[in-house]
Amino acid sequence: ARRPLVMGNWKLNGSKAMTRELIAGLKTELAEVKGCDVAIAPPLMYLAEAEAALQGSNIVLGAQNVDTNVSGAFTGDISTEMLKDFGAKYIIIGHSERRTYHKESDEFIAKKFAALKAAGLIPVLCIGETEAENEAGQTEAVCARQIDAVLNSLGAEAFNGAVIAYEPVWAIGTGKSATPAQAQAVHKFIRDHIAKQDKAVAEQVILQYGGSVNDANAAELFTQPDIDGALVGGASLKAPAFAVIVKAAE
Ligand code: 13P
Repeated sequence: ARRPLVMGNWKLNGSKAMTRELIAGLKTELAEVKGCDVAIAPPLMYLAEAEAALQGSNIVLGAQNVDTNVSGAFTGDISTEMLKDFGAKYIIIGHSERRTYHKESDEFIAKKFAALKAAGLIPVLCIGETEAENEAGQTEAVCARQIDAVLNSLGAEAFNGAVIAYEPVWAIGTGKSATPAQAQAVHKFIRDHIAKQDKAVAEQVILQYGGSVNDANAAELFTQPDIDGALVGGASLKAPAFAVIVKAAE
């Protein structure tokens, strides 16, 4: 059976003090959690603060982005090696906010995926359709295209030990989560799509749902057979709410 992963994506929120306080709260709330992997992705600026605060806990450090280059003249970028230096393990790539605001392409995101695998880090590949694409019946085509960029360049093997987060853009930050049945249908499509290339890899890949997951709707989402946890935005900024979500996944 797959071990669920609940990850908090703090996005552009926080400060040194907030990082310390939120992590202290999470350590208390989550001290007894055994049946679920837990990770947080604070802003890159606060990885040092987070690494120190997480000492002695079962919560794993993650990050929200990475560049494809390892070193050199790439102003403003952060490498896989720098993330490793702070003990970060789960790295979000392809988030819809980066696809939209930074014009990141499927191909560029596939290169980030390759860089993370080469460094021994775990890619958390975000995919998902916009509201217009959803209404046009293109959900599966969009998800397939976003996954194929990785499958075609790296092969199905690349998804061994990796994470995919299905985050319908219309559900992100809107309070309008996909229903458990809607999310399950897409998750099954994603797993079947990878299974066409490699059944064993498809069976073990972690498929998170993301988009307005909160303490009230998480448990029902997690009853679905192909939903292996969640990538949580807003509700990851409050320790009690995030803890309810983690415990629902256990
Ligand atoms: P919300 O949980 O705030 O909708 O954000 C989801 C998300 O984008 C996580 O990466």
